[in-house]
Amino acid sequence: MNLKDTIRTIPDFPKPGIMYRDITTLLTNRRAFAQTIIDMSAPYQTKDIDNVAGIEARGFTVGGAIAYELGAGFVPIRKAGKLPFDTYAQDYDLEYGSDTLEIHADSIRKGERVLLVDDLIATGGTAEASIKLLLKAGAEIVGAAFIVDLPDLGGLARITKMGIPVTALVTYD
Ligand code: 5GP
Repeated sequence: MNLKDTIRTIPDFPKPGIMYRDITTLLTNRRAFAQTIIDMSAPYQTKDIDNVAGIEARGFTVGGAIAYELGAGFVPIRKAGKLPFDTYAQDYDLEYGSDTLEIHADSIRKGERVLLVDDLIATGGTAEASIKLLLKAGAEIVGAAFIVDLPDLGGLARITKMGIPVTALVTYD
């Protein structure tokens, strides 16, 4: 099936001029959800992944299922103040202002092989901050997998330039 057909586009959300790619319609389609998990996992089936790291909140929706598919554990990367134990923190720039992501400091053992996942990559700022957190925690980052890439915003190229292989299932030009 064509996964792109199951993603809904909402014009002018959350602000005028933004074409928001709404993946909730993919998640509620059981065949599309299963295919997404299988296709995002496939390149990593032979890569001995110890942990899948998912970015709050939509990265959690695919992250747990991909971890199960790969026989790996799951590590949440969350917005500041949500994780209860000791954390590493990383600031990142948004279009207006900045935000902070955190990871539990003990979530990854040094050298563990980690796959980063999220629903969508745009500028790559969120993924780059997550990669910095995973490196602080001692991970070997094997790759980064997304459902959607928006290539005009340059995120995939930005993360590839950091030496991390990136995969995406659907592209909007
Ligand atoms: P970036 O940091 O790459 O510019 O933005 C990616 C982050 O913003 C991801 O965590 C993603 O969930 C969210 N995001 C940005 N634009 C969209 C969109 O059109 N649809 C969805 N589902 N998420 C978006």
